[in-house]
Amino acid sequence: MFRDLKSYVCTFVDCDAELFSSQHEWFLHENQKHRREWTCHFCKHRPFRASSALKNHILAKHSKNGPKDELPDIVANSEEPINRPAASDCPLCDDWEKSFAQSQHGDLSKLRKHLGRHMEQLALFALPRAEPDEDNEEEQEEEELSEKSQDDSCYVSTDEDKGP
Ligand SMILES: [Zn+2]
Ligand SMILES: [Zn+2]
Ligand SMILES: [Zn+2]
Repeated sequence: MFRDLKSYVCTFVDCDAELFSSQHEWFLHENQKHRREWTCHFCKHRPFRASSALKNHILAKHSKNGPKDELPDIVANSEEPINRPAASDCPLCDDWEKSFAQSQHGDLSKLRKHLGRHMEQLALFALPRAEPDEDNEEEQEEEELSEKSQDDSCYVSTDEDKGP
């Protein structure tokens, strides 16, 4: 239904990628460009989400393991695609983080579905809505609107009664 809308946008803030016309392209882009991690080969530290973080870690903990000019190569060779989502992976709402804490989301397909739903919402509203709190206001507005339309139908029927 949404396939023809160019509505998929990279959720990483510093990215200037164009909009993506399919969920597949968009998620591929995020995984290939951004969802990477850097694993320390010298110890069992959990993977880092930025190359600079691994660099700092190696400098701080493993500077004896090799000359510093090899560091860029070491860091480059430590880059791997992330195959497990993190609690912080949705920048658009808190729900992902909450549900992540409750049930460990095992794979990226759940994240794709979750973020994909946001994209569809964005396409429907045609405006970026970063504040999840706005949802409540919207519901109230909708209620007011439906009350008004009920009033309108009352007026219409009164007019008909008054008619010639
Ligand atoms: Zn991007
Ligand atoms: Zn290490
Ligand atoms: Zn979300």
